[in-house]
Amino acid sequence: MELKEIAKNIYACLQEDRGLGWSNAGFVNLGGGLAIDTFYDLNLTKQMRELYKTISPEPIKRLVNTHHNGDHTWGNQLFKDAEIIAHRHCAEEMEKEKKRNLPALFQAGQKRPKAFPAEMKPLLDALNNFDYSGIELTLPNRLFEDKLDLDLDGYPCQLIYVGPAHTSGDIIVYLPQHSVIFAGDIVFRHCTPVGWEGTHAKWIEALDLIISYKPEIIVPGHGPLCGVDGAKELRTYFEFVYSEAKLFFDEGLDPLEASKKINLGTFAEWTEPERLYFNVYRAYREFRKEPWNAPINPLDLFSNVVELRAYWNGL
Ligand SMILES: [Zn+2]
Repeated sequence: MELKEIAKNIYACLQEDRGLGWSNAGFVNLGGGLAIDTFYDLNLTKQMRELYKTISPEPIKRLVNTHHNGDHTWGNQLFKDAEIIAHRHCAEEMEKEKKRNLPALFQAGQKRPKAFPAEMKPLLDALNNFDYSGIELTLPNRLFEDKLDLDLDGYPCQLIYVGPAHTSGDIIVYLPQHSVIFAGDIVFRHCTPVGWEGTHAKWIEALDLIISYKPEIIVPGHGPLCGVDGAKELRTYFEFVYSEAKLFFDEGLDPLEASKKINLGTFAEWTEPERLYFNVYRAYREFRKEPWNAPINPLDLFSNVVELRAYWNGL
């Protein structure tokens, strides 16, 4: 984990992308302190908190969650005295996870790996990098709809809703005078994106908005720092996958067969290229005119991702 000053008083908290759950976060040392996202477990979030204390030992006034996924919110309880800001849909999804006590389910899965089908092993291996004990999902306590403007010691900070793209409740954090955007999972850099609720069209629209601001630095949700080039490259990926998926959809192939036929070219160099299946599956949902929040079965998706990997390994 590395804390890097990317503009005056603005810090990115970066974790090397080692697969599922290894996310980035951020800290703005203005206006009483503003943290952007937490990590997938309490140990990692404590490490993050210690790094922020080296910049400012004071309690942090605000925490922003860019979206609900656990690798961005499951350390929230370490900021429970802060104002926790997010989009309404982020809070709704967290509420559902809290009712299911998802961290405890993950922990139970770690203890009983044999209870899961063999094809789930790669997913369980990825989750084993994290310690889900003690997590009490702590929901945002300040919600907004389209945009929220914060004044951080005279510097503007805009929270902008751009979903449903990667999830239903995606927001970006834009600091115009610093020319910095914390993109959450709207930007994956050099790693293959995964989408949940939402659409390709909205995700591309969100990337276009980021590109239009011409930020000098983008902090992606996953992967190394980038500039506008990172947003443009991801946009190209989505357009490519969407158009390829349409060809195979029209030929009547299922999403897994379509994924096997797509030649990713240089995109194959991104980490976990097999997540392509997620993106093809999503495109198919759109071709079938299913709603952006149609129920999805994550285990089913992951098992097809694993099958795609196995297929490539066998070639
Ligand atoms: Zn993430």
